[in-house]
Amino acid sequence: MGKPTGVTVVQNKDTTVWPHEQQHKPHPLYQEEIVSYHYAYSPALLTSPSTLGQGMWRYSALLPLEETAIRYPLPVGNTPLIASAALRKTTQLPHLWLKDETKTPTGSNKDRATALVLEHALRNGVTTVSCASTGNVAVSLAIGAAAAGINAVIFVPAGVSHTKLRLMLLAGATVFQVTEGYEAAFVLSRQAAKAFGWYDRNTGVNPLTLEAKKTVAFEIWEQLGGHMPDVVVVPVGDGLTLSALVKGFRELIACGVAQRLPRFIGVQAEGCQPLKRAWENNEPTAVKYREPARTIADGIAVNTPVGGVLVLKDIRECGGGFVAVSDQAMLQSIQVLASTAGVLAEPAAASALAGLAPAIATGLIEPHEVVIICVTGNGLKQPEHLVAQNTPFTIRADIEEVANAMQL
Ligand SMILES: *Cc1c(COP(=O)(O)O)cnc(C)c1O
Repeated sequence: MGKPTGVTVVQNKDTTVWPHEQQHKPHPLYQEEIVSYHYAYSPALLTSPSTLGQGMWRYSALLPLEETAIRYPLPVGNTPLIASAALRKTTQLPHLWLKDETKTPTGSNKDRATALVLEHALRNGVTTVSCASTGNVAVSLAIGAAAAGINAVIFVPAGVSHTKLRLMLLAGATVFQVTEGYEAAFVLSRQAAKAFGWYDRNTGVNPLTLEAKKTVAFEIWEQLGGHMPDVVVVPVGDGLTLSALVKGFRELIACGVAQRLPRFIGVQAEGCQPLKRAWENNEPTAVKYREPARTIADGIAVNTPVGGVLVLKDIRECGGGFVAVSDQAMLQSIQVLASTAGVLAEPAAASALAGLAPAIATGLIEPHEVVIICVTGNGLKQPEHLVAQNTPFTIRADIEEVANAMQL
């Protein structure tokens, strides 16, 4: 049987790859299967934090890391848990908290995953790391890799946010804008990582991303004084951000420091809600509900969620459910978060706040409960979605004009 010319067919799940397969071998860290890490759980893993590093690295005993000093140079983790009196009043939720994941090197929760992946890259002499991204993973990897002295190769949809693209290029990453969109970019990035021997950071295939993001759960538990919240509200695209939190809370129980899991509310965009539909229809996967994503919330504009099976299973096991919110509700929530809590959110991140109303209306959240909303990404990266509430006065430098304008 002859091979098609110029193409090497390899006997594994990625099937057809490129001729370059002959020159390059997949990087030893390249992962074919999703693996899940387990630890020898005990309270000490959480109660006497590691001294390897600050922030997220304090939980190194629950991360897959050899006990040597952290090399990754950027600070990650230890983000604020905010109690905003004004926001509690606006939402009528007296026990509402914001987990502010915008306070990271590049303004999104993706920086935790990037940090652990690049820490492994540094320890294993990796020279190039690659990923596909709707925007935030790419910015995170571009900036993180530059700081670590590693090359980044990034695949994004052609319609990627301008400011996010500029940040990737500012850091000197190699960027491919893929015409067919995120799903195609994801498949291509997998093929390319394998063919060219790059280390693949992709969410859902690199198990380190889940491990790193679970540290958010440890921080929430610690910041609540060693208590579990009742409900956690998370924007959902690929689903790994939510599933990582579930893993983190499960490990708190496994370590013996907590008794019960919180419920989880996954928030999707009305214009892209495959997981909500699958959940409503009691389906184990969201593949049936694939349709073009129509939303300004690029961070959750994922029509074929990589972690779909896992996140559906997690939400069913923990209780809770999915809600969908409109772009308009997200824009409104950006304004509310900024003007009550002083937190600047991008649309995908603001969807968590927008999701409270439908979750309360459908009985998924009770108003007296301890509710955490995860604000996953900073709004300064998408200034086009900061909607003005009023207009400025243009005046000459004359105090009379100030008085006139303000009718003083
Ligand atoms: C990535 C991202 C999400 C969703 O995370 P998934 O793991 O894809 O479900 C939510 N909000 C923002 C801002 C993001 O960048």
